[in-house]
This record gives sequence, structure tokens and C-alpha cells, in this order.
Amino acid sequence: MSIRVPAIALALTIAAAIAWTASPGRLLAQGPAAVSLIITNGIVITVDGTRRVLNPGAVAINGTDIVAVDTPDAIASRYKAAQTLDAAGRVVMPGLINTHTHAAMVMYRGLGNDLNLMDWLQKYIFPAEGKTVSPEFVRVGTRLALLEMIQSGTTTYADMYYFEEEVARVTKAAGVRGILGQTVIEFPVPDAKTPANALVSAEAFAKEFAGDDLITPSLAPHSVYTLDAKTLSATSELARRLKIPVQIHLAETSAEIGLSQERHKMRPVAILESLKFWAPVTIGAHGVWINDDEIALLKQRNIGISNNPESNMKLSSGTAPVVAYRKAGVNVGLGTDGAASNNDLDMFEAMRQAAFQQKLITMDPTAISAPEAIEMATIGGARVIGQQARIGSLEPGKRADIIIVGMSKPRQQPLFDPVAQVVYASRGDDVETTIVNGKVLMRDRKVLTLDESRVLSEARAAANLVRKAVQ
Ligand SMILES: [Zn+2]
Repeated sequence: MSIRVPAIALALTIAAAIAWTASPGRLLAQGPAAVSLIITNGIVITVDGTRRVLNPGAVAINGTDIVAVDTPDAIASRYKAAQTLDAAGRVVMPGLINTHTHAAMVMYRGLGNDLNLMDWLQKYIFPAEGKTVSPEFVRVGTRLALLEMIQSGTTTYADMYYFEEEVARVTKAAGVRGILGQTVIEFPVPDAKTPANALVSAEAFAKEFAGDDLITPSLAPHSVYTLDAKTLSATSELARRLKIPVQIHLAETSAEIGLSQERHKMRPVAILESLKFWAPVTIGAHGVWINDDEIALLKQRNIGISNNPESNMKLSSGTAPVVAYRKAGVNVGLGTDGAASNNDLDMFEAMRQAAFQQKLITMDPTAISAPEAIEMATIGGARVIGQQARIGSLEPGKRADIIIVGMSKPRQQPLFDPVAQVVYASRGDDVETTIVNGKVLMRDRKVLTLDESRVLSEARAAANLVRKAVQ
């Protein structure tokens, strides 16, 4: 995005101009500082430490970063932008962070519904994946998922799948932020004959994307029921050596507790603790079948939990003890899980269902409030993936990962409480503009970084492979 230097700056020497643009927010006597983008006149839900909502508010962005969040007048007096987006009547908020998904599994959306997790995995998903997953299939599926995510306001996602270097390439090309986990699982899978092979390719993947601003390589040991102790240990050792996050399905179903006890003679958290498995950033997906002692241990080890209410309800996995986690100080984010068990990637639904599910299970309507649901989908998720210093709220110095949400649909009127309206009455389809790292990925519902009709036609063609695989 180009930076237009304000007229007054043209009189300055080049050196002075560089010094000026490098220090925005001062030199008022010389006029407003040049920035790349201003979003103004919106209802700005910052999700900062004081849950500030500016109505109206404005956000100034320069390059990849937010430089100021203030009233429209204050921003206009201090900054002049190359591009301005008028967000009047709309909500401006941090982009949503999906802390657990399997993006390319959108290709199995609607396949094998209304089954429990183990039947669904073993009868449908694992066999279909064995016959269909290839680098090209993963690229096509991930692009379809990215299109859906950009269109529904997800700006960062944590992924666990195969050929993760391909996932990374298409994610970076689409401009989306990803914590991308190479799967490690004990049986032969399309990108690795053995777990040891998976670790070798994971290391190459991690090195290829080391230091990338959008892509954070990660390791994804599938679960304690699909891995032996030796491989679990080898995986966490590699993650610590490469200093990359680990993602693991953790205590998702009651069947998993039984399988863990059968295999390891311990519950999932206990076996991981005994192996000193925890990496500096470990994301525990689901965390449903967890007791109070385990919650205390997860807090002590700084393990974040990805709560996936829709997947947990659809598969009858259970309800994560989100209120107890939050009370104990465990970081909790939200996820959709793969689209085959949800069946979409809409984080607005995840927010609403997370709040409703906790209200129902606790019989307490205050269990999770609308502001808390938004927090889990933004700054809470950022803490779970270890990126709270960079993303998750609208604050100066953070990356400009921002969405603009339309508020003019009949179902969104009248507008008394914008935070409640986002959680309880809005949908992914209401997102009009999606920005990641200061770059506009979708403007007025038009995705700029993916060719929508091509992505859809390639996905339809690849779906024929899936049809054949499950005949
Ligand atoms: Zn999952």
C-alpha cells in the first residue's frame, strides 16, 4: 500500500520526510503525519485492557501496524491517509482468531454427518483422506477455506493438517495469518509413511517459514490416542528445539480418556505431564473432559485451550468447562474445528454458541457475557497462540488485523448495544471488509487476494475425488 506524503511535507528534505513518517503522532506544528490507511466514523470495539468502545471512533494504520485509535476528529487532526475507509454505521473490531481448524477439510464438508467422533473418523474421514489428500488437493481445499474465512472475518487461524507447507504457501498468498501445524500421527498418511518422516518434513517446513510475518510454523501431534509416548516426546523435543508452537487434540471425548488409560495407563493431561511434553506455546484443542486438578496444572504450565462449541455439540463430545478455565486463569480461545464437524468456519457462530452453551450447562445467563465471547474470539485467542503482543486487539503498536462489520440488516436493528449485536445477532456474512497486516483482503464483500469463481470451480472438481473415494 503506497504512502501519500501530505502537501506540507513536500517542502521538507527527503531525510526530514523519512524522519517524520518514522515518528507519527508528533510534529503537530508541521501538520498531520502520513499514514497508509484510516478507518473512520465506525463504532470501534477495541477489546483493549479497559474494553474501550469508541462511538464514533477511528483507527490510523501505517504499513502493517496500528498507529492510533481515537475519535474521528482526533485522528483527522493528527494523520492524513493515502486511503480512507468510511465505516459509518458499522462496527470496527479486531479480526477473529480461529484457534483450531483443519482448513482443507472443507473438502469433506457434509460427509458422514450425525455420527460420533470415532465412527466418523474411522469410517469416513481417515479412509477418504487416505485416498484423496495430495499437495494439490490441500491447496484447493485450503483456498476454499481461506475464501470462507476472509469473507467471515477470520484474520488468523491455527491449522492442523497434512502438507502444511502447501497450506502455508496459499495462506501467505491470500494474505491471512496462520499458525500452521504439520500433523504427526502413528499410521501412514498421505504426506508421511511414519511419524519420524512427518518430523523430518515438519523441520524443513519450519525452516522454510522461520521469521515470516504471517506464517508461524507449528507441530501438530494428533492426540495421545493416536501416538505412542516415544513419538509424543520426540515431537515436543523438536518443537522446543525449533522454538515453534505445538497443537494437540486434548481430552476431546470421553472415549479418548478411555483410550489414553488403555494405552498409557494415564489420562491425557497426566501422560503429557509425565513426558514433559509442554512447549513454550502449546494449544490444547477442545479440553472437554478435564477435571479441576488438570485445570490447575494447565494453568501452571501456561497451556491455552481452544474451545470448539459447535464441533463438540455436533459430535456430542461434551462441553468444555470454560467458566472454570477462565476462573483459574487458563487462556481460552474459540475455534470452529474442521468444517466436516461444524459444518462451517464462521467464528461469529462460534462466539454465539460458546456463550449459549456455557449459559445452558451452568444454568447461569451470566456465565459468558457478550464482551467475554468477543474477548475469547480475539485477544483470548491471541494469548492461546502466544501472539497477544502482536494481535487480538485494536491498540497502537499491534498489527492492523481489523474487520468492518455491517450493522444495517433487519436482524441487527435497532442498535442499542453494538457488542451484544455482534455476538447475538450478527453473522460472518455481515463482514464487509477484512484487513490483515494493514492490507485490505476484502473490501465491500469483494475478496481481493483470491479469485472467488476459480476457487469455487476448483473445489467442485476436487469434490469428485472425494465422491469416488467414499463410494
Ligand atoms: Zn480437530
